[in-house]
Amino acid sequence: MSDLRTLPSVDEALRTPTGQSLIARHGQAATRRAIRTELDALRLRLRGGEPGPARVDAGLFVAEAAGAALAGAERSGARRVFNLTGTVLHTNLGRALYAEAAVEAATTAMRHPLSLEYDLDAGRRGQRDEPAQRLVAEITGAEDACVVNNNASAVLLVLAALAQGRETIVSRGELIEIGGSFRMPDVMASAGTRLREVGTTNRTHPRDYRAAIGPETALILKVHTSNYRVMGFTTEVAGAELAAIARNAGLPLVDDLGSGVLVDLSRWGVARERTVQEALADGADLVTFSGDKLLGGPQAGFIAGRRDLVRACAAHPLKRALRLDKVRLAALEATLRLYRHTERLAETLPTIRTFARTVAELRALAEDLRPSLAAALGAEVAVVDTEAQVGSGALPLETFESVALRAPAPGGRAERLASALRRLPIPVIGRIERDAVVLDLRCLDDAEAFRAQLLELTTIFPEVDLS
Ligand SMILES: *Cc1c(COP(=O)(O)O)cnc(C)c1O
Repeated sequence: MSDLRTLPSVDEALRTPTGQSLIARHGQAATRRAIRTELDALRLRLRGGEPGPARVDAGLFVAEAAGAALAGAERSGARRVFNLTGTVLHTNLGRALYAEAAVEAATTAMRHPLSLEYDLDAGRRGQRDEPAQRLVAEITGAEDACVVNNNASAVLLVLAALAQGRETIVSRGELIEIGGSFRMPDVMASAGTRLREVGTTNRTHPRDYRAAIGPETALILKVHTSNYRVMGFTTEVAGAELAAIARNAGLPLVDDLGSGVLVDLSRWGVARERTVQEALADGADLVTFSGDKLLGGPQAGFIAGRRDLVRACAAHPLKRALRLDKVRLAALEATLRLYRHTERLAETLPTIRTFARTVAELRALAEDLRPSLAAALGAEVAVVDTEAQVGSGALPLETFESVALRAPAPGGRAERLASALRRLPIPVIGRIERDAVVLDLRCLDDAEAFRAQLLELTTIFPEVDLS
């Protein structure tokens, strides 16, 4: 079919059995578009002197190519994956998993009408965020709280409501950038507050803050350096001392904590991180933190602390633009309620359950899965000790023990193996270490589903042969 005039028409391709089944699956418009795209590509190739398909089933050929393109497009987008990266709260893989109670609350909120802004006792309009805010106040001991879309929103709202048109003092050692898009100086500019930097990258002293305070100062901001540490010759002003400086000057101290740690996590093997309660006890007037980092809930942001300041934030026009939808609000309430039983968190909250898994348990799981992976790859697979990390800009330098399956892929084949794993029905995301793919099992949430699809590695991806 080197002759362009013998190319099938769009309708011919649509009429083939493959074309018909594509319409049933993807709809008329998308199928037609995909076939037209394939025909355009084929026309280009023929003009370039490449051979085309045999004339007898050209329509079918084009329909099948369109089907492959449509299937490929369907694979992109947000799909379930196995997170075997060894990073528990992986921002690219969706951070915290919902607790079962949160999943139930969210699905109910999706399927049924909800007393979202309705007071069931009084039978009239109620306050949308009130139950979640009451729970935050109850758990943290804060006077009041406000919930918004995420922690970036929380910081933006606090600065807009309390410091617009005036100065915000921040240490030079705390001007963070998170994930490229959250840069503290830019957030400040968006909120309309002027950044007053104090100290140096490695050392900021109480006198630096005191000297910067003037008639234009609206507040002092302390920012948790979530994704890096300044080490060596360093000084920072601790929360309690900074609170005293702010109080003496009659200014609010806002502490952006990043991760919302509501309980001491060290009993589950995670290094200690300052809790929301501790920051408030140190004298912060407001704290801000995320819902989907160490707190283990849906994406959300919190502002907690002094009632007059929280109310000023909640009354700002931006609050409406940053509010949570009903599904996340329902999930958030359910998650926060779990914190009433901190002793049960390792059962009820997936993030904490993941931290709480013992090395012995992970090693047994690894030994159990090893023969299946080895058989699928036709290669030796080893059980190795590794280091997992929290992720999401929490405890950047801390690692904790974990166990992984290590599949050697010598001769530059590690990329190919990793790619094949990503093309499984439930894509497996591991990490490449030298000439091997390492699959950290700490976050493996469904070992049987993982095992069940391994054999497809040999059938759909025979190129993976590593022998
Ligand atoms: C993560 C983080 C943020 C941003 O929080 P999101 O919930 O991702 O918007 C802001 N500040 C600090 C210190 C953080 O660690």
